[in-house]
Amino acid sequence: MQEKINLLEKAQRIDLEIDSIEEEKLYYPLEIEKVGREVQAGEKELEAIDSELSEMEITKKATTDDIAVCVERVRRGEERLNIVKNEKELNAITKEINAAKKEKVNKENELVKLRGRIDEKSGVKTEKEEGVLQRQANIKGLEKEFEEKKYKWAETLSRLQDERSVIVNELPPAVVKRYDSIREKRQGIAVVKVKHGACQGCYMSIPPQLYIQIMKGSSELIFCPHCHRILYFEHTDKEEQRQKEPA
Ligand SMILES: [Zn+2]
Repeated sequence: MQEKINLLEKAQRIDLEIDSIEEEKLYYPLEIEKVGREVQAGEKELEAIDSELSEMEITKKATTDDIAVCVERVRRGEERLNIVKNEKELNAITKEINAAKKEKVNKENELVKLRGRIDEKSGVKTEKEEGVLQRQANIKGLEKEFEEKKYKWAETLSRLQDERSVIVNELPPAVVKRYDSIREKRQGIAVVKVKHGACQGCYMSIPPQLYIQIMKGSSELIFCPHCHRILYFEHTDKEEQRQKEPA
């Protein structure tokens, strides 16, 4: 039983290493895809900002033209003041000049506000552009890392698979089958210690009789009655350590 447990424990350590590599292999494409979506969203936002900016530029041009028209109206009015014939005409011209001046001030205020909004939008645009560029660089980095790691993963996986085969070949096929099926159902952990009378897989208490059986050692594998994982007693580790320590 102890021999089987040792082998299963070794197999589990290898399997967990394999699992973590498989997880890492999945991480890269997912992350690249996620950042890719962020780039797309950023580009879409930039398109919207560009169209807002070009609309604002059109309004800015129109407002600038309006101001020029007002200036011209004032100039012509003032010209006509030199050749004014009567008071009625004078009043009309003065009224027109004042109206043009007032409109010019309004348009100038509008223009100031518009310039402020354009500056603000341009700032947002720059920020978004930097974000997109940074994410694009991030993708390139991830792709490079992924390519580099592929070889290392393949190498490590093949070594681990070899090690696993050696161990598995020493175990009865029924035990391996059981171990694999527990691992599949229990997040990759099939073999666990019993500590302070509790299974370290599900942390539930082990019935006293079973606990004694585990402590004494049994020729059969013992399973946790709650999570069905394979149990072993932890004092074996300490004993092993004691044996290894120099006398
Ligand atoms: Zn358990």
